[in-house]
Amino acid sequence: MANLTDRFGTLVFSESVMKEYLPKEVYKRLFATIDEGEPLDLDVANAVAHAMKTWALEHGATHYAHWFQPLSGITSEKHDSFLEPVGNGTAITKFTGKALIQGEPDASSFPNGGLRATFEARGYTAWDPTSPAFIKDEVLCIPTAFCGYNGEALDKKTPLLRSMKVLDVQAKRVLALFGKTPKRVVPNVGLEQEYFLIKKDAYRRRRDLVITGRTLFGAPPCKGQELEEHYFGAIRPSVSKYMKALDDELWALGIPAKTKHNEVAPCQHELAPVYTELNEGIDNNMLVMEKMKLVATNYDLTCLLHEKPFEGINGSGKHNNWSLGTEDENLLDPGDTPLENLQFLVFLTAVIEAVDKYQDLLRMSVASCGNDHRLGANEAPPAIISIFLGDQLTEVVQKIMDGKASVHAQHGVLDLGADVLPNLEQDNTDRNRTSPFAFTGNKFEFRAVGSEANPSDPNLVLDTAVAETLKEFADALEGTPADEFAGAALEYCKKTLNDHRRVLFSGDGYSDEWQNEAERRGLDNLRTTADALPAMVAPKNLALWTSMGVLSETEAFSRYEVKLEKYNKLMNIEATTMVREARRTYRPAITAYATKVAKGLEIIHGAGADAAMDCEKNTLNKLCRGITDINEGIKALDAVHQKAEGILDAQEQANCYAHEVNPAMENLRAAVDAMEEIVAADYWPVPTYDDILFYV
Ligand code: ADP
Ligand code: MG
Repeated sequence: MANLTDRFGTLVFSESVMKEYLPKEVYKRLFATIDEGEPLDLDVANAVAHAMKTWALEHGATHYAHWFQPLSGITSEKHDSFLEPVGNGTAITKFTGKALIQGEPDASSFPNGGLRATFEARGYTAWDPTSPAFIKDEVLCIPTAFCGYNGEALDKKTPLLRSMKVLDVQAKRVLALFGKTPKRVVPNVGLEQEYFLIKKDAYRRRRDLVITGRTLFGAPPCKGQELEEHYFGAIRPSVSKYMKALDDELWALGIPAKTKHNEVAPCQHELAPVYTELNEGIDNNMLVMEKMKLVATNYDLTCLLHEKPFEGINGSGKHNNWSLGTEDENLLDPGDTPLENLQFLVFLTAVIEAVDKYQDLLRMSVASCGNDHRLGANEAPPAIISIFLGDQLTEVVQKIMDGKASVHAQHGVLDLGADVLPNLEQDNTDRNRTSPFAFTGNKFEFRAVGSEANPSDPNLVLDTAVAETLKEFADALEGTPADEFAGAALEYCKKTLNDHRRVLFSGDGYSDEWQNEAERRGLDNLRTTADALPAMVAPKNLALWTSMGVLSETEAFSRYEVKLEKYNKLMNIEATTMVREARRTYRPAITAYATKVAKGLEIIHGAGADAAMDCEKNTLNKLCRGITDINEGIKALDAVHQKAEGILDAQEQANCYAHEVNPAMENLRAAVDAMEEIVAADYWPVPTYDDILFYV
């Protein structure tokens, strides 16, 4: 086996590969595009395409594909062979600059929220040179953005790139006030990915898991996660083999998979890469999820990425570690000098303001059918967005809000009463796990993101909102005389922090008191996807999207529609699966067992063992009541489900699914789960939670 470092990035058309394969001049011009956003000439593209093809063929590729992320959130690819017949029965290989830069997938079936009538269905994909190409399954994959012919974004990447751009511009304006002129400011992201691994056989025997990704039925197991024996426990050999294979594949793709461990729930694990630039980090995360699923099939395992595969057991999330950096420094690092501290506080304040002002958008950005079962479920952050700063930073912020911080008269720099801010990275005294948005030393960790989500949306909101608050700061402070700048900046922070202090919360985010307290503070508590999605197009948020040039009004509405549609479709699938499973799988099994008990009663009676009758009669009665409950549950669910399907307005339909269909689903589930506790094991038609979670 090649040594560890040699295995890294072997399938990536990386900077070092480019250096090797591209003429010097082409390389330089390509990097002018990547680093400084210069337009790309066709002759450069031709040269890059040629080099890519040469490299890809040497590495066993036969096809190329524009790899993109349509609004469904998953990744899409259409493969084209490098082969080109030349007419005399032979063929050459060909890959032109034009084919590299632009592709035309027949995209009529991708969701577009009314942006594109099907008769003008063709959108085009455009190469994103800032994320490297890679080889996957003998296909050269080229990360691309996906747009309609009028330039409207039809994917997740395009607006994300726009948001990175505006954030870069505004952050640079702020840094200029501190006398700094970095080349670029980029958000960095480290995405911790949680997942479940279960036996493939158990998975296949649970139709609900196969169809919806989660168990729609299932009584709690005898043993859950209460012993906390799984968290960071020794990794089982079968899982360890899987993790090694996964690491290997990810490393080859240049994805810096770093940590892996068992999570809290049985069968639950986590993988975290080293953080990278946002755009690449998201592409990487999409690949991580894809590989997690694929590699599992080689080990007789199935990887579940759903946010809540098992009720009563922790769900899975994706902690989104976000920071902002230049080529020289992390802007969310407090730094070692008072002036650096002041700069840090300005960026910190901008994030706090952004999160408070756009808490509804952040909540919206993590809303999904699956995540509804996780958020607020006492194991994951609540649906209320708040910020946890940690003890030391809370104290600093408090001082500023109270006007107790000052600018040192002689040195013109921040004076907090201590020399400099303490090194916050070491402030591990309280890593409040119940907070959805926590400052962790030199980054913010947004923990409400769902495990299955394409993490573009939450980062899109963060980038855009922070760009706006930085812009406000720059607008207000540009033109301030140099000797007054520190004082004015501190004053700005003081006012802004006071205006947005309601979003700061250090207590227990899982508690009922917080729900009440948050309401008193006027914070949003958007419990379901149906409640959260309208924020996408709320007037104040449309103003943000359009004023920052990240989404047009039409684009914002189309995204809202796609999200609604997806939610409604998934709820429809779940409700349908539930009714069908209850009717065809569970009820017949329970009836069969009831029949057996009834027949047994005759035999017991015949044998004269009447003393044993009461117990069996009792069971039979319970079974019969259960069957009745299930029948009623099915009827009730059927009725509201039909009602929901009859609603034409997508938002109203979503409301009906969230607030009427979902409770009916829970009732039906409860009726079936109650029977699981008394029906004989060999009559139960599917693997139980015990079977799935502990027999691995
Ligand atoms: P924990 O589980 O304690 O939250 P992990 O080490 O599992 O910590 O994950 C932390 C994640 O945050 C990793 O992906 C790491 O690379 C990332 N990270 C560290 N520093 C930064 C930073 N400055 N910006 C963005 N992400 C970061
Ligand atoms: Mg974390």
